[in-house]
Amino acid sequence: MRYISTRGHAAPQAFCDILLGGLAPDGGLYLPESYPHISRRELDAWRGLSYADLAFEILSKFIDDIPAADLKAIIARTYTADVYRHVRNGGDAALITPLTRLDDGLYTQELSNGPTLAFKDMAMQLLGNLFEYVLERRGESINILGATSGDTGSAAEYAMRGKHNVKVFMLSPEGRMSAFQRAQMYSLTDANIFNIAVTGMFDDAQDIVKAVANDAAFKARYRIGAVNSINWARVVAQIVYYFQGYFLATRANDEQVAFAVPSGNFGNICAGHIARMMGLPIARLVLATNENDVLDEFFRSGVYRPRASSETSITSSPSMDISKASNFERFIFDLVGRDAAVVRELWAKVDKGEAFDLSATPWWAAMPRFGIVSGKSTHSDRINTIRLAHGRYGVMLDTHTADGLKVALEHRLPGVPMIVLETAQPAKFEETIREALGTEPVRPADLASIEALPQRVVVMAPDVEAVKRYIAERA
Ligand SMILES: *Cc1c(COP(=O)(O)O)cnc(C)c1O
Repeated sequence: MRYISTRGHAAPQAFCDILLGGLAPDGGLYLPESYPHISRRELDAWRGLSYADLAFEILSKFIDDIPAADLKAIIARTYTADVYRHVRNGGDAALITPLTRLDDGLYTQELSNGPTLAFKDMAMQLLGNLFEYVLERRGESINILGATSGDTGSAAEYAMRGKHNVKVFMLSPEGRMSAFQRAQMYSLTDANIFNIAVTGMFDDAQDIVKAVANDAAFKARYRIGAVNSINWARVVAQIVYYFQGYFLATRANDEQVAFAVPSGNFGNICAGHIARMMGLPIARLVLATNENDVLDEFFRSGVYRPRASSETSITSSPSMDISKASNFERFIFDLVGRDAAVVRELWAKVDKGEAFDLSATPWWAAMPRFGIVSGKSTHSDRINTIRLAHGRYGVMLDTHTADGLKVALEHRLPGVPMIVLETAQPAKFEETIREALGTEPVRPADLASIEALPQRVVVMAPDVEAVKRYIAERA
């Protein structure tokens, strides 16, 4: 399996060669040169496999440069009872992402039982183990530099903590994350994790990361890497739970399902799109946005208009607050018949902050083929949906999953099970839960007093040179 760039000007690469990098050298995103097709016989054989065994079957289709026994061991270490709270608490280890039934044909799929209570753990934990394996094999090391406003940074740190040949330098905006989020990150004492609180906003932290990434000499000398959501390994890891959700919601492989996906950077739903292209019987992929509705606008109108950061609002489902969707280029590549010249033309506009309009093209006319529909959810929708789910179904949803359920209910098909992907636990968003229900979400016991743990963080001005010096002394 070789990987090609959506912009068509990069040499095809093997999986391990794209694992540690981000963008392709031509500025595009990597995708497999074709999607493996899963036959009905294979689907029949996969039904009933444990999560780890299913992950091995699926990932083997995409990874052919790691020996099977090694890949199997990496996956077994990743999708295991130790990592997933619900399994530690007596859940079935074969079901890493179980369904919760809301009513007939309506489910949530639990993706947030990992260390940081958000679905990003599902892929990031695999990334941590793959990084360690490949770096060891090559005798290399890497220094991961990132900026976070919450979920991504903690998922990356919990995935990379204690890993050999990996150090993480994570910038966060000082005083702008919740006490719980700060405690999650800053209480890590692993020697390879460096938390840097920048006296500024998230954008200041992000700008520093970009400035360092643009300094090719520094980047090469200190082996700077990233683990952002465009990383192909993160997307491929997410394909697995669509298959497991399908098997759990159906009795036989001639049935169809629909998934509703709370979306920001289009990473999660991109994995659903690929699962569908592989032949998984998905009738519909329901994309849900919050007030930052750049993707909903596209799927309703054919116009993709990236927003300025001044137009992006801070919402009560903050992990979906995006101005443009970094993985969206992968879907557009498929939509335009994998014509890299078209993608280059469209992203020449996007990269200048301009919109593109596909509404008058044959590609837009062919959109129904991809099964994606969309909708948006506002703060009041979110509050109402959290109340509805609690009152009618007896479950407490986090704010992002509530956005997913709100839009899912607008797009149900008769006789087709609807699976809403649960992307975080309510304990991460106490304030909004209190507003909706008047009660506090219950925290997992092991995190009950995490705010009381000693914290390790350095505070720095948003100064690129100072951050570079800090890294250079420790890398
Ligand atoms: C990251 C995140 C999302 C958005 O996922 P994308 O892959 O960026 O579309 C939704 N919900 C939560 C809780 C997240 O952390």
